[in-house]
Amino acid sequence: MTTTSEPHTGATPPEAPDHPPTRQQPGAGSAITTARSQLATAVEILGYDDGLHEMLGTPRREINVSVPLRRDDGKIELFHGFRVQHNVSRGPGKGGLRYHPSVDVDEVRALAMWMTWKCAIVDLPYGGAKGGVSIDPTGYSQAELERVTRRYTSEIMPVIGPERDIMAPDMGTNEQTMAWVMDTYSVNQGYTIPAVVTGKPIPVGGSLGRATATSSGVVHTTKAALADAGVELRDVSVAVQGFGKVGSHAAAIFAGEGARVVAVSDQHGGVHDPDGLDIRSLFEHVDATGSVVGFERGEPIDNTSLLALDVDVLVPAAVEGVLDEITADAVQARWVVEGANGPTTAGGDRILAKKGVTVVPDVLANAGGVVVSYFEWVQANQAYWWTAQEIGEKLELRMLSAYADVAALARREELSLRDAALVIGVKRVAEAHQIRGLYP
Ligand code: NAD
Repeated sequence: MTTTSEPHTGATPPEAPDHPPTRQQPGAGSAITTARSQLATAVEILGYDDGLHEMLGTPRREINVSVPLRRDDGKIELFHGFRVQHNVSRGPGKGGLRYHPSVDVDEVRALAMWMTWKCAIVDLPYGGAKGGVSIDPTGYSQAELERVTRRYTSEIMPVIGPERDIMAPDMGTNEQTMAWVMDTYSVNQGYTIPAVVTGKPIPVGGSLGRATATSSGVVHTTKAALADAGVELRDVSVAVQGFGKVGSHAAAIFAGEGARVVAVSDQHGGVHDPDGLDIRSLFEHVDATGSVVGFERGEPIDNTSLLALDVDVLVPAAVEGVLDEITADAVQARWVVEGANGPTTAGGDRILAKKGVTVVPDVLANAGGVVVSYFEWVQANQAYWWTAQEIGEKLELRMLSAYADVAALARREELSLRDAALVIGVKRVAEAHQIRGLYP
């Protein structure tokens, strides 16, 4: 087998380490069920009729492509690729590109729907979209990943563009992937078009602050939720599942702001220290070994036990569906802040509500990434760059203002933060439909 030659995700170094994964993509198949159930709840609260419900729940456009790859050894492998534009009533489609073996059209549909509500909740002039390729990027060389990315991009070329649909990194992809997408698109159009993707490297028009934006947003919303209960970040313990682009930076920012980060994990397992992990040393360990597993200054912990730790704040920042009826029942945290998309199933949500756990939902908590993606797109369109400080301030403002809107509605109508967030997002999208009218 060909070796992987470069790190492909946030803090993930080149070689996949020699530990078998402790849990495979739990509940991925249920993502669309969860997304549809959340929409149904919002539609019921809003009192919309069946026709509008169906329109809001159905993707506007889906594209399904074959992505053949000639491997470095000359053999051919075929992957399935998807791009789903769930809704484009408020603006161009916006959403990440995921490389994971379990990617299928239903998962991409769910992720695209969540992008629609998320963009509306933080009031960006975007619709929602998502893409994916059914590949495990850890098993392929950089040259192979470049060929897969360029072929996928050229297959979906007719439906993307800076005014049509703008990609960004998601699980298994990174800023290098975005540079290949941008280059493939630009070469085919005949000129450089940085605004076709966001989350790209700074030398080709990436924004300062984008790499840590999702994680910063997770911390901003956590602080806001804690403040509602009169609690400060420096007084809480935190467990983070997932040590990729979102989880690793979230752990670092939490620790940097004085919280005690007692456990982190990746797909191979986790580490736990009730006195607080030294996150800086942990980054060095991950850079050297490819996983948090084996970090000496902590005890091993598996991914399921991490979710049940006696901590104040639990941040699932890996895959969908990890908090279902069973795992949610074991949660001891008082706050669950969803760094990942769709980490809690509808059943898991009911259990957490019953236990009095405050859930800061994905569509709000992890929206910092798309907010700074929007700033990156605006900068590319204006060909003018903002400082890191400007980006940080604008991000914080937008996250806190979205949180305040959601929390106020939740209080006023006695809703969960998730239902309140979805009501705001779904209503803004429905309003756009109603104002634009139905063509013809
Ligand atoms: P990533 O590929 O950089 O990292 C994923 C992490 O999850 C890795 O540490 C991986 O080892 C771990 N993981 C994978 N499978 C696991 C499992 N079964 N159990 C435990 N850990 C597992 O991805 P990312 O960009 O950090 O994305 C993580 C989540 O955050 C996804 O749900 C993604 O959609 C969401 N998200 C990402 C962004 C962004 O800006 N990257 C923005 C919003 C939401």
